[in-house]
Amino acid sequence: MFNCWRRWRDNRIVNNHPIDERDWQQVLARLPILAGLSQAELDKLRRMAILFIQQKDFVGIGGLQLTGNMALLIALQACLPILNLGLHWYKGWKSIIIYPAAFKARQTQFDQYGVAHEMEQHLAGQAWARGGVVLAWDETAQAGVVDGHNLVIHEFVHKLDMLNGSADGFPPLRPGMSAAAWTEAFSGAYEDFSGQVHRGRNTAIDQYAATNPAEFIAVTSEVFFELPALLAQTYPQVFAQYVEFYQQDPSQRLAS
Ligand SMILES: [Zn+2]
Repeated sequence: MFNCWRRWRDNRIVNNHPIDERDWQQVLARLPILAGLSQAELDKLRRMAILFIQQKDFVGIGGLQLTGNMALLIALQACLPILNLGLHWYKGWKSIIIYPAAFKARQTQFDQYGVAHEMEQHLAGQAWARGGVVLAWDETAQAGVVDGHNLVIHEFVHKLDMLNGSADGFPPLRPGMSAAAWTEAFSGAYEDFSGQVHRGRNTAIDQYAATNPAEFIAVTSEVFFELPALLAQTYPQVFAQYVEFYQQDPSQRLAS
């Protein structure tokens, strides 16, 4: 009964907020990571993006004039990882704040003696445990370059990770997935990757992944959706866990 009501309500929202076909094609052309999705998958993503845009508050700040196409570009990338999971994976928060360019953030970090240090960092994005997501538009708009970097996917994977507490590289797994298999795949890969970074090796995957397990899954998820063959080759166990978790295999559609 409840599902039925929700479906009726969602249908009403989708019908009342159609995406103009020209806008849709324009935004699609800017997102090569969506190449290879079937028509049914694209239709599903389009519906999800409409609901996502209606459910979230998009706020442009610092003089940024937010357009419908900008929101759509963000929504399509944000919804790709949850295409087969459902929009409820982004429940419980509303705001998506967009700055014109990489921004400064003040953070307090405690050292080994418990002394607080005020740090000022240049950041392109942030995901807040009890809030929303902050994105820099200049980096968000880089989505057209397929290089294994995708700011939107990165920040939204943090939100998935935070669904069961703080970001720790261990999101709530799907039914049937093994926590032991996830831990084994990720701890092995993280140890190997951190070791390479500490030894000063060049890595094809962004070395920011060695920061902590939360950044490891955010960065390797970017690679999963942008350069799946690279991840499948480097860390096949991690790749296999993502196929199960995200319920999709980008290496099938981006094979060429
Ligand atoms: Zn991050």
